[in-house]
Amino acid sequence: MTTMTMEASGVSKRYGSVLALDRLDLAIPAGQVTALLGPNGAGKTTLVRLAATLARPDSGTIRIAGHDVGRSPRRVRASIGLAGQTAAVEGAMSGRSNLRLVARLYGLSRAEAAARADEVIAQLGLEEVAGRLARTYSGGQRRRLDLGASLVGRPRLLLLDEPTTGLDPRSRQELWDAIRTLARAGTDVLLTTQYLDEADQLASRVVIVDHGRVIADGSPAELKARAGQGRVEARLHRPGDAQQAAAALHPLGPPSVDPVLGRVSVAVAGDGLDALQRAADALRRADVTVDDLGLRRPTLDEVFLALTGDGVGAPVPEPGWEPGREPGWEPAHEGVAR
Ligand code: ATP
Repeated sequence: MTTMTMEASGVSKRYGSVLALDRLDLAIPAGQVTALLGPNGAGKTTLVRLAATLARPDSGTIRIAGHDVGRSPRRVRASIGLAGQTAAVEGAMSGRSNLRLVARLYGLSRAEAAARADEVIAQLGLEEVAGRLARTYSGGQRRRLDLGASLVGRPRLLLLDEPTTGLDPRSRQELWDAIRTLARAGTDVLLTTQYLDEADQLASRVVIVDHGRVIADGSPAELKARAGQGRVEARLHRPGDAQQAAAALHPLGPPSVDPVLGRVSVAVAGDGLDALQRAADALRRADVTVDDLGLRRPTLDEVFLALTGDGVGAPVPEPGWEPGREPGWEPAHEGVAR
């Protein structure tokens, strides 16, 4: 029998008139990184809070490493580590002191706590900054320290709620590396994210949540295949060239044209690099000047559209959801028109 790190069955949670989770079912086998992907208000944080025993489901059950969150919350807490969007570390202490303090709170002796803190520092590549006050850390370093604090107790399952929100691309990459290293070393990870590329980079399984329910579940490759591959998009210097550009790009596939914004795009297969090159050649031959030419991955909205037939948040947009601000796929290279 496969060991389950987490099993949620028929889980509902209501906040006033908002049904944050609606009979959600989810089973996460041990030994993998799973991403819960969804827009603002989808219910991701609510699920993490229930799994972390910070709130109780109205109905349904959640088991973590075999322990029921309602009946055995202490056992559940001993099995998990939790890192959220806001740093839980003390800025007026060094990174090392922070981790030692957490280890002491776990009941380790002074010597054990020192040793455990150093292990975690090495695990997360924080050696160079460990002696500095945490308030002097960059956003990415602070997030890694926060992750470290959640690892001190050697959790079976690490719950990460939007771990890279607000980080710059470099810090984001560093945190991704840290998460990958942890996963390779055998920690199961459940992370929530609004970024498709984050799910793609880290997770072997992506569970898409919307309106408190699982609407799709599969490997990143499966979901991408269902959502389409992305497009080569040209932003024209002169919007009036749109028809000419469309004719030039037609051999690559049926183009979509936005004559007002002067954008022409064609769906691509594979990584799209061949199509990008062919598009550049075709546009040059047609003497169309472009301000920008690039590969554009499907946005979160487009993936939802492909998977559900609805836009994100439809039919009733959740509070806080701002159309057009979804991060979607990151640009495949610099200079992509968004
Ligand atoms: P985000 O990506 O913005 O963090 P999310 O997918 O994590 O979103 P949740 O935070 O789980 O979504 O929220 C799900 C729904 O429940 C939202 O409509 C939210 O406003 C509502 N909600 C969550 N917590 C509370 C609360 N404590 N009181 C009232 N409503 C809440």
